[in-house]
Amino acid sequence: MALIDLLPDTSSFVAKPKQLLIGDDWQHAGSDALIDVVNPSDGARLSGIADASEADVNNAVAAARKAFDEGPWPSMKPGERAALIHACADKIAAHHEELAQLETLDTGKPINSSRGEVFAAIGAIRYYAGWADKITGTTHNINMPGDHHVYTLKEPVGVAALVVPWNYPIVMAAMKLGPCLAAGCTAVLKPAEDTSLTALRLGELFLEAGLPEGVLNIVTGYGATTGNALIHHNGIDKIAFTGSTVTGKVIAHAAAEGLKKVSLELGGKSPNIILPDADLEQAIPASAMSIFWNTGQTCTAASRLYVHEDIKDEVIAGVAEVGKSLKLGAGLDEETQIGPIVSEKQFDKVQDYIELGASEGAEIASGGKRHGDSGFFIEPTVIANTTNDMRVVREEIFGPVLVTQTFKTEDEAIALANDSDYGLAGSIWTKDVSTAHKMARRIRAGIIGINNASGADWDVPLGGYKQSGVGRENGRDGLELYLQTKSVFTTL
Ligand code: NAD
Repeated sequence: MALIDLLPDTSSFVAKPKQLLIGDDWQHAGSDALIDVVNPSDGARLSGIADASEADVNNAVAAARKAFDEGPWPSMKPGERAALIHACADKIAAHHEELAQLETLDTGKPINSSRGEVFAAIGAIRYYAGWADKITGTTHNINMPGDHHVYTLKEPVGVAALVVPWNYPIVMAAMKLGPCLAAGCTAVLKPAEDTSLTALRLGELFLEAGLPEGVLNIVTGYGATTGNALIHHNGIDKIAFTGSTVTGKVIAHAAAEGLKKVSLELGGKSPNIILPDADLEQAIPASAMSIFWNTGQTCTAASRLYVHEDIKDEVIAGVAEVGKSLKLGAGLDEETQIGPIVSEKQFDKVQDYIELGASEGAEIASGGKRHGDSGFFIEPTVIANTTNDMRVVREEIFGPVLVTQTFKTEDEAIALANDSDYGLAGSIWTKDVSTAHKMARRIRAGIIGINNASGADWDVPLGGYKQSGVGRENGRDGLELYLQTKSVFTTL
């Protein structure tokens, strides 16, 4: 195993004390308590981040409020705002390897995945920089007596709380910061307590890029304390949240109390239907990688496999073989394909689910064990002969664990696919285009893959049906989350 050398900038960022970004200043949190930053590849402590208190959150919201109510950002010429957002993307691009290394240290991801995600973050931010000078209202001919000029304005919603998870930290932050900034909102970003390093570094880079004081503020800390203070704060106009469905319900309650605008990107348990005429040379590896990629920690992962009974042996054995062939290891090893689970807590949760599957009567067809004796590695796992009443089928495991069962007819496959509280994504594999599109309409999910199991792009709406979310990120829909419409009636 040969690990890549860390850049001096990576090492010095990891080593230095972490603070909170409030206004244009990095400030000590009110308390000296630190949250450990742990390298999931070996379990070693890397650093510590601040545990922001309610008073720290109040300061951050006050800075964002001042920047929105009094600062230049919301009323800046749109082309100038676009140029500043592009300058932020330029800074990320100039530091891409350093950011990728930080992401890998913090999450355990293979370094090549982190590099790809840093480029995805740049893409999302540039995409929304492009929207900043294309925000327009409408004009209307109305039915009121008399002569009138009536038009709408699209205005920024205000101060946004951006609460993000640990599975794709820099991408999740960029997917929210891009539209938030393009719309002219100001932000308080709260990264996940397990993975805050790249968000903090983004804060430094965005200040260097010239983002005005208070437009971006960053508080680190636990969800139940720092996050809770943020989502309940009266100075917040909008909450944009990505994370688990359980926390999403807490956020929805807080938003309802304060009547804040809210968008929720939540969990998934996405069905993957393989019909007997599918091209298995494509379907088998793609189905395996959808669930094993990022160690199964992907909201849209195809985590429930429904395979036609005629091809079940070939498909299940094939997916298991792909899992066994993947190289598990430290994220900083260029040859690693699958890294560890992000934290010990999540590792324990995934192991408990694998044991639960066996005790519920399913068969652990492959994998299922801890890999190595340090770090939080779990073998890619296939659980066969499940039924839709089992908890391993109904609940999101968020690890490299695939549950599989068979079907006889298309109607049965659709019924099984839709028998879930979740509705984030779904996939269909068949050579029959007509069947594919008919089934795509019948699956109750926000993203459908036909002959693929992992489509995503910053121009294409992303979000869930049922308990997988409220609203759509990416594309024009994602921008609208940060805008509100004002109607102006003028009598001529
Ligand atoms: P989580 O809900 O535990 O935490 C997400 C964020 O919310 C973290 O920053 C956390 O600190 C904060 N938080 C937790 N409790 C809070 C509270 N009471 N008040 C305010 N903030 C609080 O989720 P996670 O475990 O970090 O992420 C994994 C989940 O995210 C999975 O369910 C996954 O499916 C989901 N996810 C969804 C999408 C999507 O686009 N739909 C994308 C990525 C991840």
